[in-house]
Amino acid sequence: MNFKTIIEPFRIKSVEPISMSTESERTAFLERAHFNPFLLKSDQVIIDFLTDSGTSAMSSNQWAAMMNGDESYAGARSWERFEKAVHDLTGMPYILPTHQGRAAERILYGHLGGEGKYFISNTHFDTTRANIEYSGASAHDIPVLEARDFSANHPFKGNLDTKQLQHLITELGEKNIAAVILTVTNNSGGGQPVSMQNAKEISAICKKHHILFVLDCCRIAENSYFIHEREKGYHEKSFREIAQEMFSLADACVMSAKKDALVNMGGFLAMRNKELADACTQLLIITEGYTTYGGLSGRDMEAIAVGLVEVFEADYLKYRIRSTTYLGEKILEKGVPIIYPVGGHAVYIDAKGLYPHIPVDQYPGQALVCELYRIGGIRCVEIGSVMFGKYDDHGKLIPAPMELVRLAIPRRVYTQSHIDYVVEVFDEIIRVKKSAKGLKIKQEPKFLRHFTAHFELVK
Ligand SMILES: *Cc1c(COP(=O)(O)O)cnc(C)c1O
Repeated sequence: MNFKTIIEPFRIKSVEPISMSTESERTAFLERAHFNPFLLKSDQVIIDFLTDSGTSAMSSNQWAAMMNGDESYAGARSWERFEKAVHDLTGMPYILPTHQGRAAERILYGHLGGEGKYFISNTHFDTTRANIEYSGASAHDIPVLEARDFSANHPFKGNLDTKQLQHLITELGEKNIAAVILTVTNNSGGGQPVSMQNAKEISAICKKHHILFVLDCCRIAENSYFIHEREKGYHEKSFREIAQEMFSLADACVMSAKKDALVNMGGFLAMRNKELADACTQLLIITEGYTTYGGLSGRDMEAIAVGLVEVFEADYLKYRIRSTTYLGEKILEKGVPIIYPVGGHAVYIDAKGLYPHIPVDQYPGQALVCELYRIGGIRCVEIGSVMFGKYDDHGKLIPAPMELVRLAIPRRVYTQSHIDYVVEVFDEIIRVKKSAKGLKIKQEPKFLRHFTAHFELVK
């Protein structure tokens, strides 16, 4: 019998209580947090969908492995296990441990970047772009056109536009292009997957022009699931084999282990080229730590080594992708406009579509984020003009291209009844949508304002 219900493929051994709250309590908490959920305390939140980064639940095997952590300064057993796990997956010979993804990015892009250099990506994640621009180089995003269309039913909306890549190489000159970075899945582009075909084409173009091809592989297991389901010729392969094939096309990779390595902290950089690895090793020792631990404790490396295997288990991946899709499809049925098809780690809501009465300079995304918290205790993040808006010379808002709200799902943390609760909260969101109010910014810092800005409701 093939049952329809997909259950969580784990039992719960240790629980963390959720503090419940009433709507009137949350109204007060929200006011005290200046209508910015980043300023809430986690105890004031019922369901935390702020990010899937570093919020995974570890397995009993990961916790057991942590007890085997070898904290020796050099040549620890934990390093050997970590190095072997990363090598077995990526096939890359030179591996540097780092305390999280952005540290790997700073080392690699800091070394490759500088004035006059260009990086090209399907979409640079915000820390990726920040590290590149900080080095003096510039970052170009060239996602495929379908990526801009919320409801275009394309199986691989995370793909990079290879025609435009060739065009840019001619225009900028291959010597000035420091690297092509393929982000799988494409986090800033809605968590949408990238096809193997696309990776193959990029690899061939990069080889022909002697350009370094880097995989930003934070969510490569989730990406492999989509390839397995949607791309011809991959249904018989294992998820791990699919990932290994994709790694074989690249020259280097950076990973935030806080995503698909199922841990709370960690990352790595892996490379094929010895000279590049030597240069990066120098930088690693200066800022992260000695080569056999980077910024990590031995126990962290143990947990990553186990997580990199667990994340490819078929039952886990099926449950993971299904539970994200389940949430997306349920709220779409109710008429909430979302990016469709649903990506791997999050559901993205088109807040401008949901709240057409709120103008972009009153931040419809932030309005929805506040409503979700007030009504249901759900915390999530605006990805729109609060995060990416700029001002012109007259202080007028130049809005972001989209006003999105992201519900990012932590791995192995919430059960189906948690998700069903969130779905029910949307009934109320829809019922009172006309009364949702816009916001204005009272106080904001110069950079990355979404983290700390203060808002007030527009009367
Ligand atoms: C999270 C993330 C990073 C940065 O990793 P941190 O561990 O948060 O420093 C880089 N790229 C992508 C695609 C990410 O999702």
